Amino acid sequence: MSSKILIVEDESDIVELLAYNLRQAGFETEAVFNGADALQRAIENPPELILLDLLLPEIDGLEVCRLLKRDPHTETIPIIMLTAKGEEIDRIVGLELGADDYITKPFSPREVVLRVRAVLRRTSNGQSTAGSQLRVAGLTIDMDKHQVHSEEGVIDLTATEFKMLSLLAGSPGRVFSRSVLMDAVWGQEYYGLDRTIDTHISRLRRKLGDFGDLIETVHGVGYRFKG
Ligand code: CA
Repeated sequence: MSSKILIVEDESDIVELLAYNLRQAGFETEAVFNGADALQRAIENPPELILLDLLLPEIDGLEVCRLLKRDPHTETIPIIMLTAKGEEIDRIVGLELGADDYITKPFSPREVVLRVRAVLRRTSNGQSTAGSQLRVAGLTIDMDKHQVHSEEGVIDLTATEFKMLSLLAGSPGRVFSRSVLMDAVWGQEYYGLDRTIDTHISRLRRKLGDFGDLIETVHGVGYRFKG
């Protein structure tokens, strides 16, 4: 059975472009033009993924994202946000609200199809985990032993570096903002500077050697593990 994608966008030419290309790629699509209908459809007939435009009439995309991620019926449905250039703040807020990825307009339909596939892959059965081990791109991350190794042997990491790596590598392709990383590593009550994260990331990259390139900088937002 093909995966169903719910498109939430008020501009009909963009809806047509998305729907056409997704169907060509083998997906089923459904479109709604406002946030209220999106929430209703997501509950009544949950799609495998939602493409959510940020600029919508009445309830905006961020609010729709927040409501979907707060409702136990819809919280696990992956969301890709469609944002315009210059909506960087919205992008960061969206990722913090739980969106899985974002695509900047204007986009190529091919990019959309690739992103949709990537998000579906990693949210369904993307990563191979054997027990408490996570294996990605030649690295084995052992959650119980708090140890990382490659074919060449154990890579010695601090507790902070280990946490950051396992978080990033646990969701390849997902962008983590600096404040999300900070919360995850040190907890909500920690008030650090963005460059604190940057320092830890650059040390982590150095220790990973050739694998350091797997952690990519997403300019103006944060970091992601190559997915
Ligand atoms: Ca719009």
